[in-house]
Amino acid sequence: MKVLIADDDEISLMWLENLLTTWGYEVVTLNNGLKAFAALSQDHEAQLAIIDWMMPGLDGIEICRRIKNDPRLRYHYLIMLTGKSDTKDIVEALQTGADDFIVKPFQPEELQVRLRAGARIIELQKELVMRASHDELTGILNRRLLMDLALREVERARRSNSVMSLLMLDLDEFKNVNDQFGHLAGDAVLKEVAGRIQLGLRAMDIFGRYGGEEFMVLLPSSNTDIARIVADHLRLLVCEQPVMFEDKAISVSISIGLAALSFDHKMSLHELIGNADEALYQAKKMGRNRVEVLVR
Ligand code: GH3
Ligand code: MG
Ligand code: MG
Repeated sequence: MKVLIADDDEISLMWLENLLTTWGYEVVTLNNGLKAFAALSQDHEAQLAIIDWMMPGLDGIEICRRIKNDPRLRYHYLIMLTGKSDTKDIVEALQTGADDFIVKPFQPEELQVRLRAGARIIELQKELVMRASHDELTGILNRRLLMDLALREVERARRSNSVMSLLMLDLDEFKNVNDQFGHLAGDAVLKEVAGRIQLGLRAMDIFGRYGGEEFMVLLPSSNTDIARIVADHLRLLVCEQPVMFEDKAISVSISIGLAALSFDHKMSLHELIGNADEALYQAKKMGRNRVEVLVR
C-alpha cells in the first residue's frame, strides 16, 4: 500500500520514509502542504497519508478540511502528526477530518499499528465502494452505477454535439438454461457471457448488468453503422463457443437492440433506452441471435 508523508522537516521526513519503507510500504514524500494537497487530489495517489500539522503553504488541518469536504475526491485516511498534545488540539484535528492523531515524539511501534489500522479501513472502504457499484455475480457495473455513468455520457454527448449509441442485450431462451441445467449453471453462463462481452469492448465503452439476464452497453462517439459492427461482433463472441459448466456444453446466444442518440440531441437517456428496447423486441420477434436497429 502506498503512503504519502507530508512534513516540512527534512530530517523527520527522511526518518519516516525509512521506517515505512522497512515496513513494506510504498512511500511518497512531500515537504509542503500545497504539494501534499495537490497529490492527494489525484486519483492514482496514496489514500493513506501521514500529515504534519505545521507546514508552509497549507497546514495539516487545512489539508484535512479540503480533502474531506470535497465530495469528488475518494476516501482518504489521514493521520495527523504534531507536537501539540492538548485535548482541544486533538479534538480540533479529529473534527476537521483527520482520522487519527499522533503526538511527537512517538515510538515507531505506535505509528506502525496506527498505519495498519488505517490500511485496514481503506481496504474495507474499497470493498464497500466495489459492492455498491458492481454486480456481485458478474463483477461488471451494477444498474445503479451503469445508469449514473450513462446519464453523464448522454450529457457529455449533448454538450460536445457528438454521436453515441446504446445497445440492450438479452440472453436468448435463458429460462430454458435454468430449467435444463439448473440455476448454478445459469449463473455460470451469465458470468461467462458478461466476460465475453467485455472482451469485445473498448476501455471507453460503458457496460453493465441492466437486469436479470439483460445487459446494457453505451458506445460513446459511435454512430449506428459502427455500433452495428460492434454489436454483431459481441453477438458472435457469445454464440461461437458453448459455455462449459462442469462437463456440460451449454449453447448460448444473445439478441441485441440498437438505438442511437438523435441528431438534435433532444433525446433523453430514458427515450434512448426505450428505443433500444423496442429494437431488442424486434430482434426477439425475428428469431433471436441477431441485431436489430431502431431507425427514427
Ligand atoms: P427470451 O429469449 O425471450 O429473452 O427468453 P428468456 O427465457 O431469456 O426470457 P425470460 O424473461 O422468460 O426469462 C429470463 C430468465 O432469466 C428467468 C430468470 O429466472 C433468469 N434469470 C434472471 N436473472 C438470473 C440470475 O441471476 N441467475 C440465473 N441463473 N437466472 C437468472
Ligand atoms: Mg432473455
Ligand atoms: Mg429478459
